[in-house]
Amino acid sequence: MTSSIRPLVAGNWKMNGTNASMPELVAIGGAFTHGFDVPVDALICPPATLLARAYDVLSSSAVRVGGQDCATSENGAHTGDISAEMLKDAGASFVIVGHSERRIDHGETNEVVNEKARAAWRAGLVAIICIGETQSQREKGLTLDILTAQIEGSVPSGATAANTVIAYEPVWAIGTGLTPTIPDVAQAHAHIRAELVRVLGDGANAMRILYGGSVKPSNAGELLAVANVNGALVGGASLKASDFLGIAEAYR
Ligand code: PGA
Repeated sequence: MTSSIRPLVAGNWKMNGTNASMPELVAIGGAFTHGFDVPVDALICPPATLLARAYDVLSSSAVRVGGQDCATSENGAHTGDISAEMLKDAGASFVIVGHSERRIDHGETNEVVNEKARAAWRAGLVAIICIGETQSQREKGLTLDILTAQIEGSVPSGATAANTVIAYEPVWAIGTGLTPTIPDVAQAHAHIRAELVRVLGDGANAMRILYGGSVKPSNAGELLAVANVNGALVGGASLKASDFLGIAEAYR
């Protein structure tokens, strides 16, 4: 049942972070190694330039590292792209695919996101597939329809609780300080759970569904207590160890 799912708190550093950010990772890794006995899995997705270094810093801790995007193919003449295999080689266990910033900035469609999720599995990575409605879709009452279409289009058949995590991120809540009401979060997550089970079967009852969008220590407690919310995908507040750990504390 969903209540037995071990939560995941994942940090998405986006296009932020340099070598000067390493002390934050040292602090996060140190906390999870020494006495931070909160029953939660932790993941940091730094920019690709820092992935190998982040892995070195965190590999002795329980904190995993992941990529923020991957190419669909394994290697070849694709200047500037990074394959899932390369992320794996650098130490990644997870990769985010279909983040709304990729969908908007790079025109990624559900079909592309679906292919990227399969590329992640090919390399042995867990795919964190992002879905979520825009402000105007919400205002038109289309939220649940959009979520259904994104699940049907972006989540490949073959997705299991072991190889896939879903992240529900209302686009209008990302980086804005705005969050949906608790009943709205509950409705969206219940809908996502039901649609995953409809499309993938009963095994999807064990799949993690993260909430993302302006999660911070002060609101993590109420957001992460909602049924079918199995963790958080955290942007801005993952850049500081104290904020990231403060969010994970919600599970103490
Ligand atoms: P935010 O970003 O926490 O800064 O709102 C979340 C995300 O985009 O993953």
